[in-house]
Parts: sequence; C-alpha cells; structure tokens
Amino acid sequence: MADIREAVEVLTARPTLEGAGVRLRRAFGFSEVPRFDPFLMLDDFRGDRPEDYLAGFPWHPHRGMETVTYMIEGKVEHGDSMGHAGSVGAGGVQWMTAGSGILHQEMPKPVDGRMGGFQLWVNLPAEKKMMDPRYQEIAGDAIPVVRGDGTTVRVVAGEHGGAQGPVTEIVADPTFLDVALEPRMVFRHPTDRAMTAFAYVFAGAAAFGEGGTAPGNAHAVRLGPGDVARAEAGPDGVRFLLVAGRPIGEPVAWRGPVVMNTDEELREAFRELNEGTFVKKRG
Ligand code: MN
Repeated sequence: MADIREAVEVLTARPTLEGAGVRLRRAFGFSEVPRFDPFLMLDDFRGDRPEDYLAGFPWHPHRGMETVTYMIEGKVEHGDSMGHAGSVGAGGVQWMTAGSGILHQEMPKPVDGRMGGFQLWVNLPAEKKMMDPRYQEIAGDAIPVVRGDGTTVRVVAGEHGGAQGPVTEIVADPTFLDVALEPRMVFRHPTDRAMTAFAYVFAGAAAFGEGGTAPGNAHAVRLGPGDVARAEAGPDGVRFLLVAGRPIGEPVAWRGPVVMNTDEELREAFRELNEGTFVKKRG
C-alpha cells in the first residue's frame, strides 16, 4: 500500500523586497530553517508591473549553496565573475552551483509585457560548499513534457512517467516538476521516503495528500513522510511545482547570499569579499 504524503504545513508566500528593490513573494526562507532541508528559500517573482521588478538583482555574491531559476514567462538576463553571460527564457531553467563563490547579476525582463518565475535556493553539504562553481542551463524546449489524462508534467529534474529531467548530478538528488492538472484530476508521484518534499501552487488550487483544504495561488505546501506525493485539482484545475531533495542535516550559518556551516566561515566569506579574494575560480 502506498503511503501518501500528507500536507503538514501550508505557508502563504509573503511580500518581500529583494535585490535593488524587486517586489516579490517569499514562500519560505530563513525563518523556516531547517524544516525544508536541503531547501533554504523559494521566491516567486511573477510580476505584472515592470516597476516592481526592473531594478533586478545587480552584482552580488553567492557561496556554499545553489540557486535554481525557473522561468514561466519573460526572461532573466545574467552575467557573472566566470565571464558567463546569457538569459533564461520561458520554460527554461538555470541551476547554478555557487560552491566556493561567484559574483553575478540577474535582471528580469518582460517578453510581450509579461515576466514571471521562481528562484529556489538549495543548500550544499560541508564537503561540497567550496566546490568549483558551475551551471546547468536548459532551454524550455529541451525539458521533457509528460502528458496524461488531464495532466501535463514538465520534468526539469528527477524522473516522472518514464521521462528523465535534463538537470543531473546535483548533490541533493532533486526532483523538480512543473505540474498542470485539469479540474478534479488526480496526480501521483512516487517519492523516495528519505526525501524532503513540498509543492508550490501558482494557479488554481489543489488538495494535497488524502484531501482536506485546497491551497491556491502563492501557497507552499510541505509534505510529510511517505512514499507518494498526491494532489487532487480543484474545480479550476491547478498548476504547481513539486520539489523533493535529500536532506543534509548539518548546522546552517546563513547571512544574505552566503550559506555555510559556522559563523567563522561566514566571517571569512565577508572578509574575503572586502579584500577582493572571494572568487576562487574565474572562467
Ligand atoms: Mn543571485
């Protein structure tokens, strides 16, 4: 018998000001550590008003963690200290492993007047925090789509319905699915029992687990123990991210864009930033 993961926590994404003045919604973050381990933060930066996002995220550092940028509309243009530059467009993903450190900028731009996406932060274990930085960038048309009866699943990472997501060899062994269900349709996805799992609803509503309330737009749903994630769409259907990953179980020392294990490691990172020795590997 399948052991269905129940919704154990529902969080309403809260208005947050980030970067150079971007108005976004934070589904979970610093206050929730370590309940979503290995995930640190999820930001929803869908925006209708350019003045809410055009200031973007000018040059800033990251160390000891990964950022995952998944776009549903518009694009994010980026550039970094390894000499890398490009853009992530609709349906595309950038999985950036900061490791020992990068400096980068991320600037949201509308396409046909629309812009929207999500950024997930994933922690790295102590033994990987100082690894060389790297990117996996996948265009929208390279992400497999699994269509079933009233269900459409884009497989960014992990496996669903026999399709393998193109993002691979990530430490947390993550699953990252973009799931769309027609009204009243039921979705099931087997998940390793050892994984932390959550959903983030961004259209319509769905009941997770065996039922109960159906969280709607801009709600994160943390799923409890079990080996199957289950969602049942409401009368208007639903679209949500389903994310799972292997917990790390280490102390978290987090200041701004740097996530380490100890306060001394944080002090070292900010000292190196001041002294200009933060970036260990250039392109
Ligand atoms: Mn960043």
